[in-house]
Amino acid sequence: MAKSRKNFFDKVGLNYALNNNLICLEYLNIAAMARYNGRMVQGAGRSMHRGMIEYKSALYGCHVSIISLWLPSTQKCSSCGNIAKKDISGRGRRCKCGLNTTRDVNAALNIRAL
Ligand SMILES: [Zn+2]
Repeated sequence: MAKSRKNFFDKVGLNYALNNNLICLEYLNIAAMARYNGRMVQGAGRSMHRGMIEYKSALYGCHVSIISLWLPSTQKCSSCGNIAKKDISGRGRRCKCGLNTTRDVNAALNIRAL
């Protein structure tokens, strides 16, 4: 199981490094997510995945940028900049400016702008 997981992350990390010039990784508050969801969120796989992405990126000249845990990527509207508190259960993001997207797409747009 451990070898197949490592092999999987090795292949994914290689694919990311070979096909991108920049990879942005966002720190997530896993402990808070686990508390909110009331279940364990696997941490070992995430750590191994991140490590493999960083390792392969260094080998193949891909830059890795680590996004701060404190960037309000999901709470900040990627269109107008308005910050609205969102709980973690909401998947959508609708803003008073008219932007209507998913939470993850909104966060990705904020990270790209950063
Ligand atoms: Zn907005």
